[in-house]
Amino acid sequence: MILGRQGAGKGTQCVRMARHYVVPHISTGDVFRAAVKEGTDLGVKAAEYIDAGKLIPDDIVIGVVRDRLEQPDVRSRGFVLDGFPRTAVQADALESELTDLGLPLDLAIDLEVPEDVVLQRLAARRVCSTCATNYSTAQPPHVNWTCDVCGGEVVQRADDTENAIRARLSAYDEQTAPLIAWFESKDLLATIEGLGTADEVTQRLVRAVDQRRLG
Ligand code: ADP
Ligand code: ZN
Repeated sequence: MILGRQGAGKGTQCVRMARHYVVPHISTGDVFRAAVKEGTDLGVKAAEYIDAGKLIPDDIVIGVVRDRLEQPDVRSRGFVLDGFPRTAVQADALESELTDLGLPLDLAIDLEVPEDVVLQRLAARRVCSTCATNYSTAQPPHVNWTCDVCGGEVVQRADDTENAIRARLSAYDEQTAPLIAWFESKDLLATIEGLGTADEVTQRLVRAVDQRRLG
């Protein structure tokens, strides 16, 4: 499970970890963005919060994650959780759900990136509107803002405006940052330096997870 400020490279690294360990990647942000795109009831509700940079209410988020964790692939393979939990209530719900399912949590990873770097990365971030692959103004797709992976349109996220970014960073400081101490108190925390190339960061993450799994 990977925590970390918005723009720390959390999403990209979670995708890489899921590929490396061949386990499902469970991203609450992706679930809600897909629901918004499909225009489901969940999506309509989620859009209000996402566009304002606010956290979606705990009961909604917890319900979504619980449904996903109860799928059989999670039990057989394990999982990478991306962007959940983000509040103390979500962390408690995760703990009791995993206990009920008899699944252990190996490690919570805090990906550390200085705030000024995060702000730069968020302003430069671009994302495929179809498959959610991440790009940036410094590393755009090869052709004309067309996704290298799927051919979809690569755009700036609606919640990467200055106001929404500010709201998300303060939600992080107030509600998510305290979870770092909570995981540490349970001896589940690894703090990983998030600066460097994506490959370098992935290597650090894999080392931390392997160390925990193999003892
Ligand atoms: P980022 O980490 O860049 O903010 P995410 O894709 O993880 O992006 O999340 C986007 C938005 O989805 C959040 O700003 C929030 O509105 C909502 N969201 C995602 N995960 C959660 C969560 N665990 N609890 C509450 N809201 C969430
Ligand atoms: Zn794409």
